[in-house]
Amino acid sequence: MKKWYCSLVFAFPSLLCAQKTAQDISTDISTHEVQAHIEFLASDEMRGRDTGSPELEIAANYIASVFKRNGLKGGINSTFFQHVPVQRVTPPINAEVTIDKQSFALRQDVLVYGGGNASLSGEFVYVGYGTAEDFEKTNTKGKIVVSLLGSQSTKSVQAAYLTDSPVKNTLAQKHGAIALIEIIAMPGVTFEGLSNFLNRERVVLKQENEKPMLPHLWLRNITDLPIMAAIKENKKTRGNLRVNGIATHKLTARNVIGMVEGKDPLLKKEIMVITAHYDHVGVGKKNAEGDSIFNGARDNALGTAALLSAAKYFGKNPAPRTILFIAFTAEEKGLLGSKWYTDHPVAALRETVFNLNADGGGYNDKTIVTINGMEYTTTEEELVKACQPFGLKAIIDPVPQYNLYAGSDNYSFATKGVPAINFAPGFRAFDEEIMKYYHQQPDHAETLDFEYVANYARSFVYAAVLFSERAKAPQWKPGVPFEEQAKQLQAK
Ligand SMILES: [Zn+2]
Repeated sequence: MKKWYCSLVFAFPSLLCAQKTAQDISTDISTHEVQAHIEFLASDEMRGRDTGSPELEIAANYIASVFKRNGLKGGINSTFFQHVPVQRVTPPINAEVTIDKQSFALRQDVLVYGGGNASLSGEFVYVGYGTAEDFEKTNTKGKIVVSLLGSQSTKSVQAAYLTDSPVKNTLAQKHGAIALIEIIAMPGVTFEGLSNFLNRERVVLKQENEKPMLPHLWLRNITDLPIMAAIKENKKTRGNLRVNGIATHKLTARNVIGMVEGKDPLLKKEIMVITAHYDHVGVGKKNAEGDSIFNGARDNALGTAALLSAAKYFGKNPAPRTILFIAFTAEEKGLLGSKWYTDHPVAALRETVFNLNADGGGYNDKTIVTINGMEYTTTEEELVKACQPFGLKAIIDPVPQYNLYAGSDNYSFATKGVPAINFAPGFRAFDEEIMKYYHQQPDHAETLDFEYVANYARSFVYAAVLFSERAKAPQWKPGVPFEEQAKQLQAK
């Protein structure tokens, strides 16, 4: 019906078809349905959907049942669930580094980034930022490697945490080192700021039979101390490293994956991935009102509702390209679900042409949606077009200095070279209105304007339709930070 209608309208085909699609989306995605998804996922009974909690398992089942009801196929061996191996790691009780005769203690100077309990001694060796080349030209065998946190081009501590540190640990391991210490010498990053983040219970990925990480510490900035000069000058400085009291505990976690096969015989080989994380941070301290549940209505029941809306629409109206719908687990623990997925994709990443992610901390402008990564990708035309019928405008990320792009699952795709954007509810600044709800107990469903939220979801679905219909999928723009990864991906 739709095809016939569109092919007959020769005069203004794209305009009229566009109107038809927007109308279909409006009819299909009702405000009540979007509201119902969010109210269910963000209810107090779901206890903030923490990774490893039974409530997050209920949320996963709910999402799978919506996928199924709307005719999606299971994305992974015809089931909807991808097991994600994660474990809870308690912080160490003690950790200490002694360099020459100078000691640095846990919480005051030292943070444990990774690796288990340890007690070792050896010679320190400096590798700069610790790139593959740095390791190539330095003898690190049997030594404790010292590097600077991050890399020459890393501008945020998230990127250092998520990308640089794991790579360095693997390199150090490969080159026979016994431990790794990164010096926190990054502009704008303080030890105290990181201490709260790293010195608490964490959830990390852990594959069966995986080699454990080398003991890996982050150390207060000591770049102006004489011992650092001695290490840099290769004066065979020696010392000890000790970590104890770390305990681990396995958790259950699942990505939920559905699929709608493409209807175009050629384009169906190209996979578009539509994503949103469905976990949040669980239950924490009571606030002044006695509320301890972090409901996460905005973050990210809202984005999950947009994903479910897309699943409903495409379930009835398959696109030319094949679409995978993925609800990610453990995003709040450091993008773990998407990290696992992009390391274990159900369709080759080389065939994965684009990722459209829905996530956000809230909104403070109900006339817009905010797109993280619009400036990196050739997506602007579709985004403008997708929002217009629903009375919204798509704006570019107003706070690039926060690097929010690296703060959600789109980043896992980007760092593998796959063009990706995050479609966030409208904000013009990270102001008080946002902070009132962002990772706070009052982020309740009833504080949302569901008319706006439904229009956000509709624009998201329409954007997905427009991307899926493009002759050539959205591309990276020249000069973006992910160009090298994109080249490597295509060379595979
Ligand atoms: Zn989020």
